[in-house]
Amino acid sequence: MMLPPFRLHRPRTLAEAIDLRVRLGEEAVPYAGGTELLLAMKLGLAPWRHLIDVKLIPELGGIQVQDGVLRIGATTTHHRLACDPAVARSLPALARLEEGIGNVRVRVAGTLAGNLAFAEPHADPPALLTALGASVVLVGPRGERRLGVTRFLVGAYQTDLAADELVTAIEVPIPGSGTHAAYLNFKVLERPSLGVAVVGSAVGGRWRGQPAVVVGAVDRVPRQVPSHCLDGAGADDQEALEAIAEAARDAVEPSDDLAGSPAYKRHLVGVLTRRAVLAALQGGET
Ligand SMILES: Cc1cc2nc3c(=O)[nH]c(=O)nc-3n(C[C@H](O)[C@H](O)[C@H](O)COP(=O)(O)OP(=O)(O)OC[C@H]3O[C@@H](n4cnc5c(N)ncnc54)[C@H](O)[C@@H]3O)c2cc1C
Repeated sequence: MMLPPFRLHRPRTLAEAIDLRVRLGEEAVPYAGGTELLLAMKLGLAPWRHLIDVKLIPELGGIQVQDGVLRIGATTTHHRLACDPAVARSLPALARLEEGIGNVRVRVAGTLAGNLAFAEPHADPPALLTALGASVVLVGPRGERRLGVTRFLVGAYQTDLAADELVTAIEVPIPGSGTHAAYLNFKVLERPSLGVAVVGSAVGGRWRGQPAVVVGAVDRVPRQVPSHCLDGAGADDQEALEAIAEAARDAVEPSDDLAGSPAYKRHLVGVLTRRAVLAALQGGET
C-alpha cells in the first residue's frame, strides 16, 4: 500500500494554520499523529492533496488545569494523557481509558483530538468525555467556538468541524469531590465493540441525584441513557440495576458489523452498563 502524492505544510502558528485551511479549502486536511489519516490515504479512501501538520504549533500543545477545567491541547497524545500526573489526579478514569487505547504505537503517535475528529464510531473517549460534560474547542477565521462532544460528533466519520477550522483543545470540567466515575469497554478486535461511562455523585455507597450514563461505540454516536432509576440506589439494589440495564439497551441503535449483531450488542450493553454502574459506585471516586 503506497501513499498517494501530497504536499506537506508545517505551520508554526495557529494563525498560519488557519490561513492554510482557508486558502486550500476542501483539498487540505489537518494531520496530527497520522494513525487514521495515513491509513485511510493508503487505502485510497481519502484523496487529500495537502496535509497541514499541526504538531509544530505551540498553542495546540500541553495539558493545563485552570479554573476547574482540564484543557487538553489538540496535539496531546494518548500516551501523554495516560502518564500525565494532573490527569491521574483530577480525572483518573480518563487516564485509565487512555492507557487502554489500541497499542503502544497508536498511543505514542495518536492524539485525543485526532480520535474525536476522525469520528470513528468504535472509539473509547467519546462516551466518557460526554459523561464528564467535555467540550471540543474549534478555531477558524470567524473565531472560537465550543461544542459539547455529542454536538461535535454528528455521525459515523462526520463532525461539525468546518473545512476552515481546527480543533485546538478538549476541555473537561474537573469533577468535584464525591464524584464517582468509571469507563468499561468490551473488545474482540483492536477497537471497542462497545463502552459504557458512568459519572455521578454518591454518598455512603448510594447514588445522589442522577449519574450520567453514556453508551459508546455500539452506535454511530454516543448515547446518553436516562438514569433517573439510579437516584438513591446502592450496589445491592438489583431492581435499579436491572432498570438501568434495560434503559441502556433501549437507548442504543446498534449497527450490524464485524463487532457483532445488533441483538448481541444490545445484550452486552445491558451487561456492561450494570458493571460500569457498580464499578463507579464501588471504586471509582475521582
Ligand atoms: C491499530 C489501531 C488501534 C486503535 N485502537 C483504538 C482503541 O482501542 N480505542 C480508541 O478509541 N481508538 C483506537 N484507535 C484510534 C486512535 O485513537 C486514533 O487513530 C488516533 O487517536 C487518531 O489520532 P491522530 O493524531 O493519529 O489523528 P490523524 O490520523 O492525524 O487524524 C485523524 C483525523 O483527525 C483530523 N485531525 C487531527 N488533528 C486535528 C485537529 N487539530 N483539528 C482538526 N482535525 C484534526 C485529521 O484531519 C483526520 O481526519 C486505534 C487506531 C489504530 C490504528
